[in-house]
Amino acid sequence: YSLYNFTGDPKLEYAEWESRMDMMNSWFTDMKSQNRFLYERESINGSKVISKVVDPKTGEIREMLNFASNDYLNLTQDPRIWEKVKELSPEYGGGAGGVPLLSGSMTIIKQLARKIADMKGMESAIVYSSGYGANYGTISGLLGHKDVAIYDMFAHASLIDGSRGSNKKFFQHNDPVSLEKVLKANQNNYINKLVVVDGVYSMDGDIVKLNEILDIAHYYGAWVLVDEAHATGVIGKTGLGTLEHFGLEGKVDIITGTLSKAVGSIGGYVAASERLINYLKYTSRSYMFSTSPYIPSVVASLEALNLITEQKANKDKLWENINYVKKRLTKAGFNIGNAETAIFPIIIGDDNKVKEMTFRLHEKNIFVNPVPYPAVPRKLTRVRMTVTAGFNLEQLKYTLDEIERIGVEMEIISPVKANAV
Ligand code: PMP
Repeated sequence: YSLYNFTGDPKLEYAEWESRMDMMNSWFTDMKSQNRFLYERESINGSKVISKVVDPKTGEIREMLNFASNDYLNLTQDPRIWEKVKELSPEYGGGAGGVPLLSGSMTIIKQLARKIADMKGMESAIVYSSGYGANYGTISGLLGHKDVAIYDMFAHASLIDGSRGSNKKFFQHNDPVSLEKVLKANQNNYINKLVVVDGVYSMDGDIVKLNEILDIAHYYGAWVLVDEAHATGVIGKTGLGTLEHFGLEGKVDIITGTLSKAVGSIGGYVAASERLINYLKYTSRSYMFSTSPYIPSVVASLEALNLITEQKANKDKLWENINYVKKRLTKAGFNIGNAETAIFPIIIGDDNKVKEMTFRLHEKNIFVNPVPYPAVPRKLTRVRMTVTAGFNLEQLKYTLDEIERIGVEMEIISPVKANAV
């Protein structure tokens, strides 16, 4: 048999897939052989942004500023949430012990689903054990072989994977004109059309052009799904996400998301009309055939969402930090694309430089992630940096000074612009 069967994508030639696999493998082998780059968190060190990690060279523990976390509001360490989790007793049970349709249906999980539906202005919601499962299960549960999903080309893999058994098309990233072309060309080819976008894009940190996309999709009779993974807790006046950001509450057909980023826990969800959610309960296989989420993480998610909606999470500080980092990176002359949230791509377009910059930052105890080809197109390879609320100005200043110094040394930016603020 051939590994080809595992790619799941009939259009991807095995040779191409194998070469992609080799490329990724060589990155990791290279990192390991140089004893660099290994990130294994030991503990948190009482700080929201400093992680204790094992130094691969010496085996000793060292401290790094973590600029690679999606814990945007640092709720993973919030004592108010931990208090709620501690109130649980072992008798309550951790694992739900069953799938939702058998014995895994629990009041606390329904409360979480209700909270999500209310936050997102939808009639109903269901909760999955992961965001991946929610996205995959929603799309694969909805679309049949006469339907089509039309994706923004930067939509998250968990969404795209939902179309492995059905039709899919792509439009240019965040480009309503390109979407219109695809919709027009396929107007009569399918029964149901579902336009799929992220609220905030995970590699670029830009926000979907929702007004235009909704207008076009609805004009052509398509449904719209927005993945709120990186938007919840981050954008919108009170942190409710993309719909609140645009004042478009109730206008989108389906909302999915994860509880693993700003919410600081684990799990995923889909929110929509009562009828659609009822349908998914019996067609979404990653919901139906998977045990309900772990109860302590459900309790943590619920408390985190309460803190977000009651404006008790650190959203203002997050934005203060985002604005500082954005100002410094832009002023220094880095190409950060259209970044406008907590995710910053430092676009370099050269795999070796991406790797080198990442290494050099790690040496300065600044933890960032490299994003090489084939994760993004060759000319868009980048160092990816995320900002969370817990950084103080001194830590940010140190980091940006180092990024600028390294950027100049490596001739990614010119010396003139660096060193501002
Ligand atoms: N959607 C987006 C945009 C994501 O970035 C991620 C996480 N990488 C997911 C969905 C999946 O969420 P989870 O990690 O909870 O499975």
